[in-house]
Amino acid sequence: MSQKFDVVTAGAGLSGLLSASLLSMKGLKVCLLEKNAEIGGMIQPYRRKGYFFETGMNIFGAYKKGQIQRDLFSLFGVPEDTDITDIPAFEFISDNKKYIIPNNRRDMFDIFAGYFPEETDALNKFFGVIDEVSDALASKNFYGGSAFKKYFGQGAEDFILSITDNPDLRDLLRYNALLSGYNVRTTSLYVYAAVTGSFSLSAGMFTGGTKKFIEILRKNILENGGEILTGKEVVKFDTEKNTVKRCICKDGSSYEGKMFLSSIHPKNFLNITNSKIIKSFYRKRIMQLPETKSSFIVNIILKPDSLLFAAKPVFINKGNKRIMFYTPASGRNGKFAGVAKIMSDDDYRLYKKWYMSKTGKRGKDYEEFKKQKAEDLIAFTEKEYPEFKGKTVGFNAATPLTFRDYTGTPEGSSYGIEHDFNNPELSLIPNNTKFKNLFLTGQSLNFHGMLGVSVTSVNACSLVLKEKLF
Ligand SMILES: Cc1cc2nc3c(=O)[nH]c(=O)nc-3n(C[C@H](O)[C@H](O)[C@H](O)COP(=O)(O)OP(=O)(O)OC[C@H]3O[C@@H](n4cnc5c(N)ncnc54)[C@H](O)[C@@H]3O)c2cc1C
Repeated sequence: MSQKFDVVTAGAGLSGLLSASLLSMKGLKVCLLEKNAEIGGMIQPYRRKGYFFETGMNIFGAYKKGQIQRDLFSLFGVPEDTDITDIPAFEFISDNKKYIIPNNRRDMFDIFAGYFPEETDALNKFFGVIDEVSDALASKNFYGGSAFKKYFGQGAEDFILSITDNPDLRDLLRYNALLSGYNVRTTSLYVYAAVTGSFSLSAGMFTGGTKKFIEILRKNILENGGEILTGKEVVKFDTEKNTVKRCICKDGSSYEGKMFLSSIHPKNFLNITNSKIIKSFYRKRIMQLPETKSSFIVNIILKPDSLLFAAKPVFINKGNKRIMFYTPASGRNGKFAGVAKIMSDDDYRLYKKWYMSKTGKRGKDYEEFKKQKAEDLIAFTEKEYPEFKGKTVGFNAATPLTFRDYTGTPEGSSYGIEHDFNNPELSLIPNNTKFKNLFLTGQSLNFHGMLGVSVTSVNACSLVLKEKLF
């Protein structure tokens, strides 16, 4: 029998949870349908050998009072006293040098200028753009303002190359490439400046890990009368003309709603919505958009009391390797780190031979490939960051296939669809659809990560509520 709700959402990842939390707080009866046994999608932690490990969400910016992510958290019902471990600085190790990057705007310019005293003109230009975009975000004008018009159609990399010839400064300005999913070829200056600007204000990670954050959102939804149903793979958005009637799940259950949100990957959404109202050129256009790269993650169990906990993620960009190493606050044990994490880009095509395989059944050669890759990354990190040497007692790894099969994202892409500044109109996918009661949300729409997904979700909720929320 079909059940009826105010809003039915497909997918309980970050965007689904944020939207459902906000809408339930506004008094709507929401229902979240998640295909997996657990909610969280890319941010869902997992437990192995008594330890919790983080998957996708690590670090977010601008979380302090008066800053944009904090304001957004309030809208989603994340309390102000949520325990967040501050990250005062990042460390960046490039081919030639080592840098400390403070996560506060006051010191950032001075420290950069200290490293590059001859480059103050370039730095003034750089911080000029960062501040202009940060101000646009702070004034809650994401896509309408002059900064967006000016910088969305420009490439971040072209900008960096245009302001300085100094190869070391260029490297430094790309320091957060991995964290912000920055693709040299395609990332727009606007998105790059928004992410870099948010980290130039503050950076943090949930002290209790994403587990704690998910719990906050889950509790909000349930306390406000919403339902969260797991093991519910939506296989069809059932439509009549320009209206969605219900979501039908693989197990045959169906959920009717006045409004619907799709927080699943837009390509997957199109695959399960076969209404003629979606024109074939639109389908083709979305289906042809390239995906962002995927990731290879090594989650490490450390020798007890061997490595001091440090809220200072390290980015290492050497030769053809680009990694991020850090100790999640959720694994902290007093002054020591209990677990560590290495994250690197990865290419889905390397896994071609196992495309048809399923989680846990990919075979010995896959396990061997994965183990070798993880050991290489551990050895590389130990070399560049000697404090970590010899501290590993166990590890497990996730590959692009893990991400593909877990979240259903094509090619296991870490950040969904790639947005290309060369094609701004094609790159931004609107929240609106041809259906009057269905809106899209999620990282593939504009930009990814905590900030991008929060913005997209708030926009989707504004459309549902017919009220400007931000
Ligand atoms: C390795 C990695 C590291 C990252 N690090 C950071 C970071 O440090 N800081 C940061 O800000 N961001 C980071 N991100 C990005 C961030 O995690 C994502 O942008 C964000 O979590 C995406 O949320 P989403 O809701 O758009 O997508 P998803 O998390 O993919 O959510 C979609 C949900 O829908 C479910 N689903 C799919 N199909 C169906 C269906 N048919 N029916 C029902 N349910 C379905 C999926 O199982 C999933 O739960 C990282 C990402 C990765 C992969």
